[in-house]
Amino acid sequence: MDDRALAKAVDAELSQSEFRLNFPSPLEAQFEADTQSRRRRSMLVSTLIATPIYFLFLANDYTFRSDIFDFILLVRVGAVLLIGMPAFWLLYRGVTPFWRETLVANIVVCAMVASCIVLRASRAPFSYYDVYCFGLILVAGNTFFPLRFTFACVTTAVCIAVMLVTLVGYEPMPIEAKRLACLGIFSTALFTLVTCYRLERNERRAYLLLLRERIRSGHYRQDNEKLSKLSLTDPLTNIGNRRQFEAALEARWQEARVSQAPLSLLIIDVDHFKAYNDHYGHPEGDECLRRIAAALQAESREIDQVARIGGEEFALLLANISSHQAYQTAERVRRRIEALHIANPGVAESAIVTVSIGVAVSSQREAAAPNDLLARADAALYQAKLGGRNRTFLAQDAPWQKSASGELDTPRAPRSSS
Ligand code: GH3
Ligand code: MG
Ligand code: MG
Repeated sequence: MDDRALAKAVDAELSQSEFRLNFPSPLEAQFEADTQSRRRRSMLVSTLIATPIYFLFLANDYTFRSDIFDFILLVRVGAVLLIGMPAFWLLYRGVTPFWRETLVANIVVCAMVASCIVLRASRAPFSYYDVYCFGLILVAGNTFFPLRFTFACVTTAVCIAVMLVTLVGYEPMPIEAKRLACLGIFSTALFTLVTCYRLERNERRAYLLLLRERIRSGHYRQDNEKLSKLSLTDPLTNIGNRRQFEAALEARWQEARVSQAPLSLLIIDVDHFKAYNDHYGHPEGDECLRRIAAALQAESREIDQVARIGGEEFALLLANISSHQAYQTAERVRRRIEALHIANPGVAESAIVTVSIGVAVSSQREAAAPNDLLARADAALYQAKLGGRNRTFLAQDAPWQKSASGELDTPRAPRSSS
């Protein structure tokens, strides 16, 4: 069941004026899946608490019916060993919801049967006083464990039937006492069953409200994630937009400051793109930008930030690589776009689409800001354009990069497309 269908089912259940104790099957399955292990644990704990209390009644047996105490010991211990312990073990191992409730119902009925056997076995004058405590068995089954309401109803009916059968024909007990015992057990049954119903109804309602909140917050989170992704993505090329680039520049700049690692920025501008647009029209221009963006992505690593920061201008932010490697990456990008061989007849008949790239590498020794890196990469791009386009210019005085005249230029001047 998907989230939307589940939310619909939850709303439908919550709007019911008559609250049902059984959800439609997919929702019931979800309810069980979410609550099963907590319920199983709570029933195991309840069984562990109820067992010593059950044995406490042996003290009463010893006082009232010492004549048949051995027999009583056999009955009570036998009930725990034959019914209680296997049921506990099965509960501990984990069973289906139906069997979980059936096992606990069996423990309750077994406690009643054992108590009735003990009562009937003795002819001692006060033996029947026990009967006034039988209601405790219903209290345990219906409110302490508590059983699911339907199971509680069936268990209560069986327990009362067992008790009535026991009392009928039990001569040592006067009729007035029997009447009082019946009144007591019926009232206890009524009170505990109503409580049982309320407990289950509240548990289910609380679960529905919680589930609704869980689904809603999941949707909000998904919507937020979608929105923030949209607000950071360039719709034309599907790579990051200027906003994402600026955030990444700030973040990477701080990281680089901490790690004292270099941070490189490539600004890539398409050469003579106006001419391309004028010749082919805007839709073809868009397609060309998409192909350039894909080429940029193909040349970058997972950790690099690729973004379209202007009309036909892109940025590539490379963390933790030397200026030499940054320059090499820029050259690979430039050659890859050149290798696309996209004709640009707006410039010249044999011209193709190329890019110029300005590269700047941050030096953390200088007290500079992220925008200084951007400004230096921009200035380098300007130099690349001035140098004839389709080339890379590195805005850093590196020994391997000096030209014969000592001025900064690309080490190997590529063919200019202009
Ligand atoms: P240069 O080599 O000096 O960079 O020349 P250029 O023609 O590329 O630069 P210019 O700034 O003169 O023109 C940029 C062109 O980019 C103008 C505009 O038509 C085009 N452009 C900007 N944004 C888009 C866009 O989203 N889609 C398309 N198809 N074209 C765009
Ligand atoms: Mg351009
Ligand atoms: Mg431009």
